[in-house]
Amino acid sequence: MDLRTDQHYVEVSQVLREKGLHTVCKSAKCPNRHACWNAGTATFMILGETCTRNCGFCGIQSGRPMAPDLHEAQRVADAAAIMKLRYVVVTSVTRDDLPDGGADHFAQVIRALRTNPGLTGVEVLTPDFNGSEESLSTVAEARPDVFNHNLETVRSLQQKIRPQASYRCSLDVLSRMAQRGTMRIKSGLMVGLGETDDEVLEAIHDLASVGCHILTVGQYLAPERHHYPVQRYVSPDVFDLYREEALKAGIRAVASAPLVRSSYRAAELMKQAEG
Ligand code: SF4
Repeated sequence: MDLRTDQHYVEVSQVLREKGLHTVCKSAKCPNRHACWNAGTATFMILGETCTRNCGFCGIQSGRPMAPDLHEAQRVADAAAIMKLRYVVVTSVTRDDLPDGGADHFAQVIRALRTNPGLTGVEVLTPDFNGSEESLSTVAEARPDVFNHNLETVRSLQQKIRPQASYRCSLDVLSRMAQRGTMRIKSGLMVGLGETDDEVLEAIHDLASVGCHILTVGQYLAPERHHYPVQRYVSPDVFDLYREEALKAGIRAVASAPLVRSSYRAAELMKQAEG
């Protein structure tokens, strides 16, 4: 680890602490955070740290969330400017407790970030908003460059892994956002949860068929002992196979390797998807 990386990492951590902001990079202990922060990319988590859902693979706490912080959008924009970020990913827990699922909060954050001339891209990684057309419109009208929503796993494992979500709903959300033609559409899969390679290829083709431009595929690692157990470690050549198949199916930019996560090299993938 070179000294510059460490120093930059310390500075960024300090800004986040001062602004009272959360990043998925830190809370998920993402293995790529040094590289991403040094590349001027970070992922902010908005709308608190408590999720209204309880997916078996996720390390985020479930329960009754706090009311949204009305100043969060400006704080995210300020922090992005101080950190000299060029590309920002904004994600959140699922807020089924809010009438619009938090869609307007996302829109406010996108608009606040847009006031920062140094930014080349804003990506949102959102929940499914229970498929609400109104919520999807609210986010789309704020014009993020990339709309990301993770399918997470294959059809047969949805009920086990993310019981409050569904394969159909997630594909439908991606399809409707793709039909608008104003954003790059992105999704992500984890493998190692007990799926077969054929099921992964089926999911990849389903994502391509709804207009997905960018795909990430990574190895599932259990955050803690009580989370859903890892069923297999997928070998690098199989990740290559997923990548080749996704490109053949028409997905323009694909990151597929064991340590890939949703925001991995996000700015680069957006560029690749622009063609
Ligand atoms: S909805 Fe998202 S944040 Fe909530 S438990 Fe599931 S994966 Fe985690």
